[in-house]
Amino acid sequence: MPDVHAVLSASSASRWLSCPPSAQICAKAPDTQSKYAAEGTLAHEMCEIKLTAYIAALPKRTVTARLNKLKKNELYDPEMDAHTDTYLDHIKKIALSFPTKALINVEKRVDYSAYAPEGFGTADCIILHGEDLYIVDFKYGKGIPVSAENNPQLKLYALGAYTAFRMFYSIKNIHLVIIQPRLDNISEWEISIDGLLEWGENIKPIAKLAYEGGGEFSSGEHCRFCSIATTCRKRAVDNLELAKYEFAKPVPVAKDGEPTISDDDVGAILSKAKALKKWVEDIEEYALSQSLEGNDIPGWKAVEGRGKREWTADPAKIENRLSGLGLPPQIAYERELLSVAKLEKAIGKTAFADFSDLWQKSRGAPTLVPENDKRPAYNGGTTAAEDFKQ
Ligand code: SF4
Repeated sequence: MPDVHAVLSASSASRWLSCPPSAQICAKAPDTQSKYAAEGTLAHEMCEIKLTAYIAALPKRTVTARLNKLKKNELYDPEMDAHTDTYLDHIKKIALSFPTKALINVEKRVDYSAYAPEGFGTADCIILHGEDLYIVDFKYGKGIPVSAENNPQLKLYALGAYTAFRMFYSIKNIHLVIIQPRLDNISEWEISIDGLLEWGENIKPIAKLAYEGGGEFSSGEHCRFCSIATTCRKRAVDNLELAKYEFAKPVPVAKDGEPTISDDDVGAILSKAKALKKWVEDIEEYALSQSLEGNDIPGWKAVEGRGKREWTADPAKIENRLSGLGLPPQIAYERELLSVAKLEKAIGKTAFADFSDLWQKSRGAPTLVPENDKRPAYNGGTTAAEDFKQ
């Protein structure tokens, strides 16, 4: 669940640890919730009910009533049920891996203010058994896969959980787990308690600076979570500098008489250009919204884009008109098989199990990503280029 009230919230730690002044700036920004965030909140509530039901062995009727209440929300989608089941199943797997009963905490508020002033947050699930502490976080987003490796949000939760439970458990191993079912992403990472505490000590001065509104502005990947990302001066200056110097640097006019740039140059340009492209897109979106609100963006204006022809009449009227012309009404329709995903959604997972011999998953098209992306390199051999062309 989003811990919106802490200035140094765990969910925004990757931003304020990289750009400390952003903490106070974002804390003062008005609270707005996107449709995606609201959808995530609903899915988290579903996770909470299912996990609580598992731990407390709640009667089925109670659980169904609670879930049905959530299902009335307009953002509910049947696939949310399957995705929250994936979360529950993984937690069950962890809990059942121990020889004796583990302690499972659901939506547990943790206090990590010993490391970051007034720092607190709500961990989706904390599991304790002997020397093991698990921090399990559910992510409903399907944009970018989130990794548990060195994840500052989960490390802050772990520091808070350690502070709360160290009197009762001799915690030595910290397991960070992210379950992001819409991307088939279950990411797990382990750190020793000594490593975690050392990290906690290292971030203390940065957290203090961030809380006090000090420190240096620093732009980067983390800017996408910032309330002033579009109009931030530092981000603008860095991107313009990038375009002026860094971006131009790897493009020599000619290298040893070659009229084309090398593959090394292509790699260098791409790694710089991604941040620039994202920033330009953000600026465009901002300028359009300003223009639509009647604010002048010098040199630019909003115009109407290309419209789309759409039926306004009842389908029966269109059919009649076709019959009048001696044409079969069916000519107006396409008969198409639903996609595998849509049919599964329409009939439910249980019934869909009967169709397992009737479909297969095709290979995804090759996509260019930075070298540090977690996915293995495309292994299509000589067919990769052909796949791409197709
Ligand atoms: S947009 Fe600006 S203030 Fe926000 S994180 Fe980036 S550099 Fe910092």
